[in-house]
Amino acid sequence: MSLSYVMASADSPWSTYLAQIERVLPYLGGLARWADTLRRPKRTLVVDVPIEMDDGSVRHFEGYRVQHSLTRGPGKGGVRYHPDVTLEEVMALAAWMTIKTAAVNLPFGGAKGGVRVDPVRLSIKELEKLTRRYTSEIGIIIGPHQDIPAPDVNTNAQVMAWMMDTYSMNVGATTTGVVTGKPLHLGGSLGRVKATGRGVFITGREAARRLNLDLNGATVAVQGFGNVGSAAAELFHQAGARIVAVQDQDGSIADPRGLDLAALVPHVRAHGSVAGFTHAEPIDAEAFWDVDCDILIPAALEGQLDAQRARRVKARLVLEGANGPTLPGADDILAERGVLVVPDVICNAGGVTVSYFEWVQDFSSFFWNEDEVNLRLDRIMVDALRRIWDTADRHRIALRTATFAVACERILMAREERGLYP
Ligand code: NAD
Repeated sequence: MSLSYVMASADSPWSTYLAQIERVLPYLGGLARWADTLRRPKRTLVVDVPIEMDDGSVRHFEGYRVQHSLTRGPGKGGVRYHPDVTLEEVMALAAWMTIKTAAVNLPFGGAKGGVRVDPVRLSIKELEKLTRRYTSEIGIIIGPHQDIPAPDVNTNAQVMAWMMDTYSMNVGATTTGVVTGKPLHLGGSLGRVKATGRGVFITGREAARRLNLDLNGATVAVQGFGNVGSAAAELFHQAGARIVAVQDQDGSIADPRGLDLAALVPHVRAHGSVAGFTHAEPIDAEAFWDVDCDILIPAALEGQLDAQRARRVKARLVLEGANGPTLPGADDILAERGVLVVPDVICNAGGVTVSYFEWVQDFSSFFWNEDEVNLRLDRIMVDALRRIWDTADRHRIALRTATFAVACERILMAREERGLYP
């Protein structure tokens, strides 16, 4: 047990985040004196979530909501249901949200939530009870002006609808703006479901242009075929790229001629995994990292690209759809090998950007069409990436450090201007 909960254990996502903060300090000038605010979450809440199961037994689950920073606006960040969720992981994910919202200049801070549960083992009724009790427990710190949850791994629009309903019942008024990623008829936004994958595609398209890599005919390998990975794969496919390998929790498949996505998507919908897809070669999970490709998209979980795998990656371009997929040591190896990494904190910011659009639309009760959403998303992502790239060129630093530099300057400037209370 650490002396303080803000101290990181080795190779944890929180230690990855802290190492990233150390790397950006030389580029922050006098603002670096505020850096400790980035090393400590503003607020962490750990809650007990008891539910009565269908068989009449009572089970307790551990839930978390971490508000890493509220300096630039309300907290923003998803809720994850996963058996391996820990407070330390949620702290890192919340911190990356702080960096991400600032990197695209949205008026939000950073937050994240999670429940330590394997949702596949729950019935729909049990999942609803878990969601409602968790929402009530964290209800003391969330709200449309305080902290706005959204979907993450294993949560979706239905979970957001239950969260919105529970919060609304507790405060006595329908409050659509308390969560984003809701169903369309409950104040959701067009384009939200695919927004993160679209953002991965937009940043990938811009990076490929700088590498003189033609997307038409390029080869792509994707780890994680959920919300983010499948949407990104479809957009690259539409741009003429071949998806040559896909890996998820239960299987890995490859086809150098390009997978038939029109058949793969319904297969995954029906069976919950790419495993068993008969129109491709099943490959060993570890062999996925050796696949010949131009672009690699890790879009599953943290810590997937370690030093050993980074030495084997064939791609010229890595697009971090997932949060924290690359360990700091692997980052250095990829850089030495000339592999360009578009970091999570800008690459997967499309989701939170359209979440921001959803929140704005809920407040104004005026909804945009999908083209408007996608156009505004494209513009924001391209502008943010250009500013980051200028910073990287000016200081001759990696895109990740440049993204942190742009974001941390905005966060710490706001901190300095607000001053310390009281
Ligand atoms: P999801 O639950 O829809 O999909 C996750 C995918 O990863 C599934 O295909 C699953 O089988 C696979 N996976 C899980 N563990 C794996 C393992 N050990 N090896 C290989 N594959 C594995 O989740 P999602 O919403 O697509 O999120 C994926 C990542 O993107 C997460 O890191 C999440 O934090 C990040 N992210 C999501 C959003 C969003 O809007 N959903 C936004 C920003 C970042």
